[in-house]
Amino acid sequence: MPADAVTADFCERCLAESQDESPTSVRDFNGFGRSFLGGKSDCATCGSKIRTLWVLFVAFPVVPVGSYRYKQLSSTAGFTGSRGTFVARRMTTQWDQVVRTWAAAIVIAAVLIPLFMFIDKLRGR
Ligand SMILES: [Zn+2]
Repeated sequence: MPADAVTADFCERCLAESQDESPTSVRDFNGFGRSFLGGKSDCATCGSKIRTLWVLFVAFPVVPVGSYRYKQLSSTAGFTGSRGTFVARRMTTQWDQVVRTWAAAIVIAAVLIPLFMFIDKLRGR
């Protein structure tokens, strides 16, 4: 996609706070890969929001790649999960969003891991 097509989707304010750097490929294959998480600072003018791109391991966000001004263009619920087209522009990493995502992942892990261990224990007998 040419850079012009990306810039046309954002308003001047969002363009000003981000750079001409788009993630080349974002894949989320059964929880492995990379995925955009979170959403803040919704823009009333162009409808974009700030999302952080993460490296996932077993569906859990492990490493923050960076934050982007993100705008969903279309979304279709497919057979292998939702697919959609989007445009994104790199901006400074939003550490408040990173910390919130990590905190949420830790809470989910703290609930799920003992649950799986409990199910495992039941199965073992
Ligand atoms: Zn905007």
